[in-house]
Amino acid sequence: MQRKRILITGAAGFLGSHLCDRFVQEGFHVIAMDNLITGRMANIEHLLPLEQVEFYRQDVTKFIHIPRDLHYILHFASPASPIDYLKIPIQTLKVGSLGVHHCLGLAKEKGARILIASTSEVYGDPEVHPQKESYWGNVNPVGPRGVYDEAKRFQEAMTMAYHTFHGVETRIARIFNTYGPRMRLNDGRALPAFIGQALRGEDITVFGDGMQTRSFCYVDDLVEGIYRLLMSDYVQPVNLGNPDEITILDFAKEIIALTNSQQKIVFQPLPADDPKQRRPDISLAHEILGWKPTISRAEGLKSTYSYFLNLTPEELYHMEHKNFQQFIVK
Ligand code: UDP
Repeated sequence: MQRKRILITGAAGFLGSHLCDRFVQEGFHVIAMDNLITGRMANIEHLLPLEQVEFYRQDVTKFIHIPRDLHYILHFASPASPIDYLKIPIQTLKVGSLGVHHCLGLAKEKGARILIASTSEVYGDPEVHPQKESYWGNVNPVGPRGVYDEAKRFQEAMTMAYHTFHGVETRIARIFNTYGPRMRLNDGRALPAFIGQALRGEDITVFGDGMQTRSFCYVDDLVEGIYRLLMSDYVQPVNLGNPDEITILDFAKEIIALTNSQQKIVFQPLPADDPKQRRPDISLAHEILGWKPTISRAEGLKSTYSYFLNLTPEELYHMEHKNFQQFIVK
């Protein structure tokens, strides 16, 4: 029996690599693509010996050629943390715009179904809480996050246009904060930052007064949601995330308890346009996919922590974790 063939862009990244694992398990032939700007081969090395996995080192903002049949595409290539947007803003804009155009063109050519990774960032600093798919958002196009937020908004518009104009089978996942093994320790996001600081014996840096909220979803739950959405026939955007909301200050305290560390919390300036609150309304995903997260934060944080505990001292210390503050736009 011929395996179904799936292209996963951003395959060496945090989410991309977990999706590769899942689709391999499901028996697919996985074409993993990444330019390795923010992705790491270490995340997918274990899959490379498999006959059903190929790796292409390619930038999706350049024309993509895939020989033979292709049945599915997951477009997950993108820098995905505020520190990355500030370091590589043009690439961030290009992968969401030129990159999605290439993926959609490929989907049309091959008759493949495509799911694109959109984001809760399309809601910006939301004035509606929790966020439903029907909310149009409050995004600052020219702020530091604008390069990501607007690229993702463009990506949704382009995807819908390919669906309505060319009849391409499209799916749009609006992904809220997700965490788990293989996050980059130095990507500047709260969870790896806090765990890295705890492991190195540094102070825990909470930005602002820490009263801003986020809702963190464990990666396995997210992957299940993506899988179900891809296999569904629903074309409009769908929120995927865990509605269990927490302030960043309480989250920092949870990490201190988890790591059993003696570190103190220090407060630093809040980055520009940092959303004050974020929690997904996932009733749509529940209704159409029968999906909701099943892994509690306590459980998810435990397995994430054991991943970080297994990093070598080299990985722990040699990453440019100290450079984050210089990227903060006040
Ligand atoms: N944050 C923090 N200390 C850090 C890194 C992040 O207090 O060392 C805050 C950040 O300002 C934001 C929240 O944690 O309010 C979540 O940040 P993250 O970058 O993880 O995700 P995003 O802001 O994209 O949701």
